[in-house]
This record gives sequence, structure tokens and C-alpha cells, in this order.
Amino acid sequence: TPHRTLTHPEALEALRNFLKERSSYDVFPVSFRLIVLDTQLKVKKALDVMLLYGVVSAPLWNTSTAKFAGMFTVQDVIHLIQYYYHTSSWEGATADVEQFRLHSIRDIEKALVVPPPPLLSVHPLRPLYDACRYLIRTHARRLPLIDRDTQTGGEVVISVLTQYRVLKFIAVNCRDITQYLTASVQEMGIGSYVSPESNPDPINNPNKYYPLATATMQTTVFDVVHMFSEQGISAVPIVDSDGKVLNLYETVDVITLVRNGAYQSLDLTISQALKQRAVDFPGVVTCSPKDSLSAIFSLIKIRRVHRLVVVQGRDDPNPGRLVGIISLSDIMRALIGHDIPLGGAGVGAEVVDKAL
Ligand code: ATP
Repeated sequence: TPHRTLTHPEALEALRNFLKERSSYDVFPVSFRLIVLDTQLKVKKALDVMLLYGVVSAPLWNTSTAKFAGMFTVQDVIHLIQYYYHTSSWEGATADVEQFRLHSIRDIEKALVVPPPPLLSVHPLRPLYDACRYLIRTHARRLPLIDRDTQTGGEVVISVLTQYRVLKFIAVNCRDITQYLTASVQEMGIGSYVSPESNPDPINNPNKYYPLATATMQTTVFDVVHMFSEQGISAVPIVDSDGKVLNLYETVDVITLVRNGAYQSLDLTISQALKQRAVDFPGVVTCSPKDSLSAIFSLIKIRRVHRLVVVQGRDDPNPGRLVGIISLSDIMRALIGHDIPLGGAGVGAEVVDKAL
């Protein structure tokens, strides 16, 4: 009810009810474009298509089985680069990554012992709330919406739900609820925060920003790629010697580098690599640990936010110093909750959780 004051838990509950009353269809505009990639495509072709249409992930389609075959994401490309760097010559890696066919990517993930993205999907008419629970579970961070063709009974990929789309939808439509989310993000434990004293192995792995992975302007792109792949993260804050945040390096930046030229560019330092960033780079979004979730929704409403770097505020002793990082999945988990069981073996939902 928009007319009375809500407590923080009441506001969360109201948001969940909102999501239960909507479906994934409600999140999408009436008309939209969907890029689907054939699993027979080579990585090079796939990247060209993705760059051309400005997307960073796409559902895969297996033509021989006429079935959805998982998602192809930037994280997959990161894994590929990581794999080839270890297994072949630098020059060979360039050619190999590009010649790779999409259907073989899962083999690489096995070789790297990184978990394969689950083949989770959901029917677009299922409640948005359920879709969000699946979104939290899938580390592809994208949930394909799959319907059935009424005539052939075959699978049809309708679109892909992302955390960004859901949070934007809430930010735009639920101001009357989100305004009551007044507790601070740090208080609510939303995000990951610098806490060096909890480092279990400070001698061998000293990291004054533990548990955060960070880099400096002198770190090589490849070292950062390694962090992305090992830790399953999509961005590292770039800090100076005082811990002041200078920038943020993201998985998408690597893709642009790779497609712009040679894989050798992974030997560049972050400082050099940042110079190659597109002129329309939207910038790094920061917030203070004292900011409320409500303030963050206001930001998401007006900006294309994919993650926030938490820095000390202007009134703190070291303004701009790295405090934490908040990813969209952190916000989603705060809204939906972590451990809610999915209701038996995916009752009513289209769950395909088998290996490719
Ligand atoms: P995406 O940004 O691709 O949508 P995501 O929302 O899951 O994916 P990630 O940035 O991969 O975001 O974050 C996954 C988890 O790791 C989050 O809980 C986040 O707080 C944490 N995290 C993000 N970046 C770092 C980092 N540089 N160091 C340590 N932990 C991080």
C-alpha cells in the first residue's frame, strides 16, 4: 500500500509480492530483438555477431536436436583465453580461441574444473518471483525464457532475463515501495567488503583488500583475466597505493580488447588497456557504505548500473578509498533471500539441468 509508511521488512515483502504478481513477459518491451547463436558457430563469428548487436551473451541453439543448448557469455570467453594461455603458444592461442566451435566450450570448462553453467530456463509466463530465484541459482547470471511451439511442440527461445532487467523493472515501477528500503547496504550485508583481518592465509596470500580481488594500473590484463576465471567474478577495482579507486576493469573490456586486435594485448598493463576503452564507456558507478538500498534503486532507475564500487564517502577519513563491491546478484539475493527451496523438482517450471 503506497499510502502508509513501510518498515524495511515490509517493503521487502511488498516487493516480493509485486514480483509474484508479474511474469517475465512483463519485463520486456512489446517488441524486441533476440540474437540466438548456433552451436556450430565458431567463437570468432559469435563474437563478431555479439559486438555488432551490442550484446554480451546469447542463448545457444543446437540445430540437430532443435533444442536450447545453454548460454554463451563473456565468462565463457574468459575461460577460453585462460585455457589456451596454459595449453598452447601465445600466437597459437589467438587462432585457437577464434576457431573454437561453441558446442565444445563445455569441454574447456571441464578441463579448467570450473562449473558448467546450468541449463536452467523458465517459461515466460511463470511468476517473475520464481524466475528471480532461478536467476540467483544460475551462475550464467542469465535466465533464458523458453516456451513451446503450439504446433510442433518444439522449444522456442523467447528472450533472456537478466538481473539488470529485473532490477531496472523494479526501480522504474516500484518507487512507492523501494523508498522504504532505508537501511544502509553495509548494514544489510549487501555486497562484498574489505576485511583483511578475516584473511585465512595472510602470510602466503597477503591481500590488504581481502576478500576483494583488486588490481593496480601496472597489473597485466592477463593477471586480471586469471582473477575473473578463478574467482568467477566480472570486475576488479583498480586502486592506487592508498587504496583509492581509480577505475574498474570488467570482463567486457577484455572482449573488446580481444576483438580489436591480437590476443597479445593481454600482455598490456591495465593502464594501457584502459586507453583502448570505447569513448562511450559509461563510467564507474560508486556508492558509500552508508547509502541505502533505496538510493541504489534510484541510481539503477536512471543509469545503466551493472555493479557498484563502494568507496568511503566525502565525510570519511579517506574519501574514495575502496570499501567493497556490490554486484547485481548481491542485490537480487537481498531482495529474494538465499535459501528458499525451489519447490520440489521444479514444479511447473521448465527446468533442464542436465549436462550438454
Ligand atoms: P555479473 O556482474 O556478470 O552480472 P554477478 O552479478 O554475479 O555477475 P560478480 O561481479 O561476478 O557479479 O559477483 C559475484 C560475487 O562476487 C558477488 O557476491 C560480489 O559481491 C563478489 N565480487 C564481485 N567482484 C568481486 C571482486 N573484485 N573481488 C571479490 N569479490 C567480488
